[in-house]
Amino acid sequence: MIASTVRSSIFLNFLIAIKVYNFAKVIQFTPIFMPDFSQNNHYILGIESSCDDTAAAVVHNGWVLSNLVASQKIHQQYGGVVPELASRAHQQNIVPVVHQALQQANIGKKDLSAIAFTQGPGLMGSLLVGSSFAKSLAWGLGIPLIEVNHMQAHILAHFIKNQSKNPQFPFLALTISGGHTQIVLVRDYFSMEILGQTLDDAAGEAFDKTAKILGLPYPGGPLIDQYAQQGDPYRFKFTQPKAGGLNFSFSGLKTAVLYFIQQKESEQPGFIQENLHDICASVQHTIVSYLMNKLQKAVQQTGINQIAIGGGVSANSGIRKALQQAESEWEWITFVPPLEYCTDNAAMIAITGYLKYQQGEFSDLTTVSKARLEF
Ligand code: ADP
Ligand code: MG
Repeated sequence: MIASTVRSSIFLNFLIAIKVYNFAKVIQFTPIFMPDFSQNNHYILGIESSCDDTAAAVVHNGWVLSNLVASQKIHQQYGGVVPELASRAHQQNIVPVVHQALQQANIGKKDLSAIAFTQGPGLMGSLLVGSSFAKSLAWGLGIPLIEVNHMQAHILAHFIKNQSKNPQFPFLALTISGGHTQIVLVRDYFSMEILGQTLDDAAGEAFDKTAKILGLPYPGGPLIDQYAQQGDPYRFKFTQPKAGGLNFSFSGLKTAVLYFIQQKESEQPGFIQENLHDICASVQHTIVSYLMNKLQKAVQQTGINQIAIGGGVSANSGIRKALQQAESEWEWITFVPPLEYCTDNAAMIAITGYLKYQQGEFSDLTTVSKARLEF
């Protein structure tokens, strides 16, 4: 009796061991997967959900076949992104966005070679939606899963295949968005070094917070840009923020604009309304010349004169003009991606995924989302 109980419990443990072993094999399937490069026909699905944009894109051998973004309007009424609402909206949007991205690319799920997703940095609740979806789909289809660093992807968007030239290594990247401001030395696709970054607010926040002070809706960056085009950039003076080396600081500028506006409005009610264009032009000029001064310093320090910009703020007409000028005056070679690859998008995730796919760099299903993520 005892012997048979022992025998059956050994048998049970053996069965459990086999199950665990098989499950572990499934969990670990991605690192042992070797893509068939002889086919040279690779479709990568990219998924981006780090903040408030749910995006999906398909890249075929480095060319973008589709690039969709569902922007979340719900945050406008709060004047900034509400993390919990962003996460819920991602859950609603992700299935239709991925479905449309595949449809526009004119392929089915079974044609996909790998799934790339944003691992971080970003809002945890938002990242989790994209990563859970990507993991499930990759597992279900039995194809590799590829984790992507959102900040690296902003830079690698420059390698999306199109008619224009790519930067050559090494080059400097200025990534300016609502969440980040960085100057990065890019030695190779995945060999990057942050030379300087913001110590507080990001460049996009400086635009958005100024807009809020002026009573403009969120996100105010594009509106400041629009009003600035008809304004005098030298009408009002704001001192450039101070931060050592190649680092940035923008929180002082926000306070300076706030005190300036409060004082002027108390002396002369209606001041904002009457001077909106000049205020926007002056603030934009301060931010742009600050960014350009730091870039100039980075060029002097490294001897590298190739500059590639990325992130939502690189849509700004002031920074684009300043870079054009630097091309003719200082002989810089500058790279500005098309607008749709500047703001948060999934094509940059898919191209980064494609570059990792070529190197056989895959993740397993135990990979975790990271709100903070270094290179
Ligand atoms: P995130 O900050 O979520 O990574 P993006 O890379 O899409 O998102 O950048 C969004 C930021 O870019 C916002 O702060 C927005 O105000 C700013 N932005 C977009 N267009 C412009 C523009 N033309 N001028 C200045 N800022 C802009
Ligand atoms: Mg971004």
